[in-house]
Amino acid sequence: MRWHPLRREAGMTMIEVVVVLVILAILAAMTIPSLNGFITDANQKNCRAIEKDIANSYVEAFVDNGIETPGTLTEDYKKNCAKLLYKVMREKGSAAVYNSSTYKTDGIYTFSDACPNKGTYTITFSTDYRSIDITCSVDGSYK
Ligand SMILES: [Zn+2]
Repeated sequence: MRWHPLRREAGMTMIEVVVVLVILAILAAMTIPSLNGFITDANQKNCRAIEKDIANSYVEAFVDNGIETPGTLTEDYKKNCAKLLYKVMREKGSAAVYNSSTYKTDGIYTFSDACPNKGTYTITFSTDYRSIDITCSVDGSYK
């Protein structure tokens, strides 16, 4: 191509490219942190919806299974409730499996694979084991 004094060369000069890249970098620097905030916020809302769903599903499963609450809570009753909780958690996507060594006499269980923010759920049975309280280490509780 021959150089002509009146014709501008096609494309951008190096300075124009640098200016465009700087503008893009500034826009990205302003946008990405707030975008991360939106994602974390959305995951927190999602987590709390999951918590509420788990709590409701446990109560539903308890009623559906026709479990009788004894006057004095027995180990068998508590184990049945724990098994039911694991069944509910598996339905909600947890891979946790109930076995004899999983049983906790204090009625407090943890699950670390159901929160979208990678938090750990601490699930505590009510005193009669008919309902549960659930709190996420990252997102708190839906209550
Ligand atoms: Zn969470």
